[in-house]
Formats: sequence, structure tokens, C-alpha cells
Amino acid sequence: MAKTGKIQSIRGMHDVLPLQSPLWQFFETTVKNLLQSYAYQEIRMPVVESTDLFCRSIGEVTDIVEKEMYTFVDRNGDSLTLRPEGTASCVRSGIQHGLFHNQQQRLWYMGPMFRHERPQKGRYRQFHQVGIETFGMASADIDAELILMCSRLWKLLGLENIRLELNTLGTTESRSVYRQVLVDYLNQHKEVLDDDSLRRLESNPLRVLDSKNPTMQSMIEAAPSLMDYLDDESRQHFDQLKHILDKAGIQYNINPRLVRGLDYYGKTVFEWVSDALGAQGTVCAGGRYDGLVEQLGGRETPAAGFAMGIERLLSLLEDAGRQVDNAPHIFIILQGQQAQLDGMSFVESLRNQLPGTSFQTNCGGGSFKSQMKKADKSGAKIALILGDDELQNNAVSIKLLRQKAEQKTVAQSELVTALNTILQD
Ligand code: ATP
Ligand code: MG
Repeated sequence: MAKTGKIQSIRGMHDVLPLQSPLWQFFETTVKNLLQSYAYQEIRMPVVESTDLFCRSIGEVTDIVEKEMYTFVDRNGDSLTLRPEGTASCVRSGIQHGLFHNQQQRLWYMGPMFRHERPQKGRYRQFHQVGIETFGMASADIDAELILMCSRLWKLLGLENIRLELNTLGTTESRSVYRQVLVDYLNQHKEVLDDDSLRRLESNPLRVLDSKNPTMQSMIEAAPSLMDYLDDESRQHFDQLKHILDKAGIQYNINPRLVRGLDYYGKTVFEWVSDALGAQGTVCAGGRYDGLVEQLGGRETPAAGFAMGIERLLSLLEDAGRQVDNAPHIFIILQGQQAQLDGMSFVESLRNQLPGTSFQTNCGGGSFKSQMKKADKSGAKIALILGDDELQNNAVSIKLLRQKAEQKTVAQSELVTALNTILQD
């Protein structure tokens, strides 16, 4: 028998309701315009991929792969996973469609990601990211471009106090020298390592530095720093990046503990962090991942990118009191039976003459008073009243809803000019 009772959305997965969507749209439009102005191109990937893709790219010993993926066996018996992030899919797609060989790419995507985490403010099981990935550019200028682009976005959104944390993980070679030094250090402090860290000590010791466990923080603070083990190539790359950022007036804090939770990063890593969001303060994170394309079966391709968490950024916008006006420009009152029938085509012809103007037509009739109430509630600036009287006289009445002014009646032939004047001021 079918279960009865209320059907609810899945825990940690939220609807975006009509009152909230204007803010989403404002954010999405701002981002799209910005990306276009830097000549980035959109790529759209499926939200489901083979599980193997994420295990091979993100890394077996990461929070995501170990405990956060939505993995299931489909009807063919294949193991599939709802994407927890977009980089792996983007690289998979680029290899599959030959986007990388002898080419440079600046790509972006936007959409839902899925991670089975403990839901709390700023942490959801379905959340949304804007992801930016670049391919075929090995030097620090593109790393800088990514950061400059973020900085410009915060300004466009009107967000202040998002600070940049910057680090370098060096080349694979310098990382492997450091890895040994770190393992020795961690082995000397085994008594303070928690279970996760003990496991990582063997498999992925750098990730121990990423631990948020308070009892381990002083040990982590005192750990040897990768900065001291950088080879020339790593150092030069980092110096160039800092040079460009300094010249552009971008402030940053060098944070040697910033290692990022995914395996594929090397050289530049960065996070943009706000203190206004509590523990979920990182709104954007990324870096360089030169090895990933090859690791997934493509040819060696330098790459760098980042992802922003849309919910966290929207929460900052909300806290800043950001309002987005989504009201129609004009509300159409159709008063009387004939007007209700003929009004629709009248509004259609108005739409032809006033492109870019939004109209909300009262459907379903109702008294003048109740239609007027709806007009007011819609937030529209203007109510157009088309009653049977007006129809007979080829006229229409205009009522300004946001200022004290008498309703006035104009000939239909003069309406477009009259509306243009009102809409413009
Ligand atoms: P965190 O340390 O907060 O778990 P992460 O390192 O797992 O973040 P990334 O994989 O780098 O996050 O994802 C990039 C951005 O996506 C994050 O900085 C954050 O803004 C957002 N994000 C990640 N996981 C979630 C989530 N579960 N809910 C909401 N936003 C998220
Ligand atoms: Mg996480």
C-alpha cells in the first residue's frame, strides 16, 4: 500500500521559491555578464557521471569520495554518482570532445552539486556552484586573471570584506620532498592525531593540515611549512602571481595551511573567505591542477580554475539587505465582460509596441476594487484600466500606483507615447 502523509523535499535540498528567485537571477546575470566580459565560454555537463570519474580525480582519500557522494547502481548495474563538483566532469568532457589539444580554453558552468554532508547554514546536500576552468595556460598570469575576476565580481555584487587566502602547493617534485618532512613531523606527534588524520598520515599527509579539529590546531600551526621546500619553478610561479596581484592592488594573506580538500591541486591554491558566515566562510575556492587532464587519460594540459558556492554568496547578499525589484511594469485591469474577452489581444498589441516592458494581466475577472488591490500588490508602477466604457470609446485609463495622481483617460492611439513618458522617469 502506498505510504500516506506529507511528501517533503529531501533533507538538505531546498526549493528556490518565487520570492527568492529574483536574487538568484540577479546573481546569475551579474556572473554571466562578467564572464562574458572576460571571454569565457559556457559548457554544460550532465549531473550524473560514472563513479569512477570522481574516484580517479578528486582522490580516494578525500572527504568527498570517502563519505559525501551520492552513489547508486542504475538499472544496467553501473555505478553512477550525482556530481559532487564540476571540475572532473569538465575535464572528462574536454578530453572526450578534444577541447584541449593545442588549444586554450576558458570555460564556465553553473548548476547543482550533491554532497551527503550534515546540513547546516551554508552547507547543503544539493547546493549550487559557478565553476570556472581554464586549460592550456601554464603561467601565473591566468591564475591572476581568475583572482582578478573574482575580485571584480565581489565589487559588482556590492560585497565587501571577502578576503583572499593564498598559498602554493608547489610542483609535484617539491611537494614530495616536503611530504617526507611532514610525515616525519606528524609521526612525532601521533598522540594528537585523530582517526581521520592517522589514516591520512599514510595516504595523504598534506590533508592533515586541512583538519578543522580544534585539538590538533596548535600541532598544525607548528608544522613545517611547504613554503620552505619550494623548488625554483614553484617559487617563480608564485612570485609572478604575487607580482601581478600587487600591481593590481589585490590584497591577500599568504596562508601556508591552505591545502584544499581535493587531491588534484598543485602550485597556486586560493580561497575567498568571509567572516560573516561562521564556520562556512569560504565562498570561493580553487587553484591550479596541471596533472588532472593526464590523470584522467588526456594529454598533459596545464589547467587552473575555481568554484564558488552560490548559496553562501546569496546569504551575504541577503545579509547586506540586497533587494531585487522583480515587479511588473504595468498591471492590466480588465473590467467587465467585454473587456475581459477583448483585453487580451489589446495587451498583445501593446507588447509588440513596448518591447522590454513587463505586463501582468488580471485574469479571471473580479470587481474593480479587487483588481485594483491586486495591481497594488503586484508592485507595478502603472495600472492600465480597460473597462467596457473605455473599449467603446477606444480609450484606456492610466492610474499611477506609486504616486498621488488622478486617474486619467487617454485615447488608445496616444497610449504608447504616454506610457513611454511615464516608464522613462
Ligand atoms: P568546505 O570546506 O566548506 O566543505 P570544500 O572545500 O568542500 O568546502 P569546494 O569543493 O572547494 O568546497 O567547493 C567550492 C565552494 O562550494 C565552497 O567554497 C563553498 O562555497 C561551496 N560548497 C562546498 N560544499 C558545499 C555545501 N555542502 N553546501 C553549500 N556550499 C558548498
Ligand atoms: Mg567540503
